[in-house]
Amino acid sequence: MNISATQAATETAHHECPQCGSTALREEKVKSSFWHGDRLVVVEDIPALVCGRCGERFYDDATITALDLMHGGGFPAGEAKREMHVPIFSFAHRVPSELAPLQEEET
Ligand SMILES: [Zn+2]
Repeated sequence: MNISATQAATETAHHECPQCGSTALREEKVKSSFWHGDRLVVVEDIPALVCGRCGERFYDDATITALDLMHGGGFPAGEAKREMHVPIFSFAHRVPSELAPLQEEET
């Protein structure tokens, strides 16, 4: 995953969501997941501005740089605060006919 592609918080000085225009931005500590090769890791306590309307998160440049450094460091298992088990589901059996009824509401 390319963390640098995460939306930078350059607009947040105005405290207006670049995504939806809402001014209901609040500072929060969020968690986010990252793929590192075949490993899925979670980073928590990330400072972010979170939009109260659309839920979009915005990180400042220093935070994005720090996350990039963590990613570049390979998220060594010995530095993990704790671990969790993640259930994995397959979408393969979801044939289109099972999804079709959702679009037949109008009749
Ligand atoms: Zn928004």
